[in-house]
Amino acid sequence: MDFEYSQKVKDLQARLNAFMDQHVYPNEKKFLEQVAEGDRWQPTAIIEELKLKAKEAGLWNLFLPESSRGAGLTNLEYAPLCEIMGRVLWAPEVFNCSAPDTGNMEVLERYGTEEQKKRWLEPLLRGEIRSAFAMTEPNVASSDATNISSSIVRDGDEYVINGRKWWTSGANDPRCKIFIFMGKTDPDNPSRHSQQSMILVPRDTPGVKILRHLPVFGYDDAPHGHAEILFDNVRVPASNMLLGEGRGFEIAQGRLGPGRIHHCMRLIGLAERALEKMCQRALGRVAFGKPVAAQTVTLERIAEARIQIDSARLLTLKAAYMMDTVGNKVAAKEIAMIKVAAPNMACQVIDWAMQVHGAGGVSDDFGLAYAYAMARTLRFADGPDEVHRNAIGKMELGRYVPKDAMAAYTSSRARK
Ligand SMILES: Cc1cc2nc3c(=O)[nH]c(=O)nc-3n(C[C@H](O)[C@H](O)[C@H](O)COP(=O)(O)OP(=O)(O)OC[C@H]3O[C@@H](n4cnc5c(N)ncnc54)[C@H](O)[C@@H]3O)c2cc1C
Repeated sequence: MDFEYSQKVKDLQARLNAFMDQHVYPNEKKFLEQVAEGDRWQPTAIIEELKLKAKEAGLWNLFLPESSRGAGLTNLEYAPLCEIMGRVLWAPEVFNCSAPDTGNMEVLERYGTEEQKKRWLEPLLRGEIRSAFAMTEPNVASSDATNISSSIVRDGDEYVINGRKWWTSGANDPRCKIFIFMGKTDPDNPSRHSQQSMILVPRDTPGVKILRHLPVFGYDDAPHGHAEILFDNVRVPASNMLLGEGRGFEIAQGRLGPGRIHHCMRLIGLAERALEKMCQRALGRVAFGKPVAAQTVTLERIAEARIQIDSARLLTLKAAYMMDTVGNKVAAKEIAMIKVAAPNMACQVIDWAMQVHGAGGVSDDFGLAYAYAMARTLRFADGPDEVHRNAIGKMELGRYVPKDAMAAYTSSRARK
């Protein structure tokens, strides 16, 4: 087993680190100031400026594997680069590698028609527009996506869409021009996994109403934000359907692999940054006659943070390697494992870092409170911990129970 990154990755890491040092870290305050100036829901000049610089530096669209439109990197090669971007919450956008666009671009690349790619994927890849993924609904437990109840009804050459979505990330940003919308085309299909479809809905279509933004622990996450949206008799051309009616789950499985692992990679970077701040603060602050770093509880936590970060990284690299070599479907267990491990690890490490900072840790002076709020949401977003643990548990049990007998042991529907 070779744990070394290739020379190509090391070169990219060096260039990315240099870019972060020169352009991103020195502008962390400026970004927040620009968001706070005037209308919070407008894009910031600093990000638009840095996007041009990142493009010029060849640090653009690094995420897209197996596509001539990407930078030619595998998931395994992208992981350590995505980690570096994750050190600052807004940095991934500078490199056109931010959520939810990377997952959405992968959907368009893998499942879109040539016409859909030209209309939506290409401007997304150029960083001219942004996108959102509208699946979760306020009225149903959306961690079970078979519950999604919005309707998509064929009417001649069009589909008519009705439903209410919430937590549609990025929809508040005026640059967000396209939604990937999940709903039911065939609610009576006896196969619950064939009822759903995904369809492209341009944001400016009549009937799309952004109702409000949803704060996260009080943070609005502007100018990105998370929106509640009403889709009221929204009509789109039939050619906006992705892949075909009833194939929404197939796309969801394809999308959630990359989307999930990218979150995990970024969280590792965020946790590294928190540990860095924790060490610096612990070394420089004296309590009861000795540095906070000399208190054994702090040493314990620093050590445990290092163990947890490195464990999560190795698990993430393994999942990325499997996605590259055996495909997202076979790598499902590894993807679920990191989706549980990385957000829990990041929450714990950031929590310890806040503790070392004393009351300052929960202020906005060190960026830790905001980092914690964002990391905590990833214990829900893209599937709650429990759902992933259930899936992992079933896959583990599957080694001992024949596939057709498994439902008798694990399915609540089967017991009813
Ligand atoms: C910041 C943020 C951004 C988001 N962005 C998006 C987005 O862009 N697009 C989008 O569509 N959605 C988005 N989401 C929504 C997210 O994907 C959902 O919150 C998630 O899928 C869970 O759905 P739910 O909130 O309806 O929870 P529910 O389904 O109501 O579940 C509630 C709780 O029930 C428990 N539970 C559920 N199932 C099980 C089980 N099998 N075993 C044990 N316990 C269980 C879990 O504790 C779970 O947290 C975002 C959420 C957040 C917080």
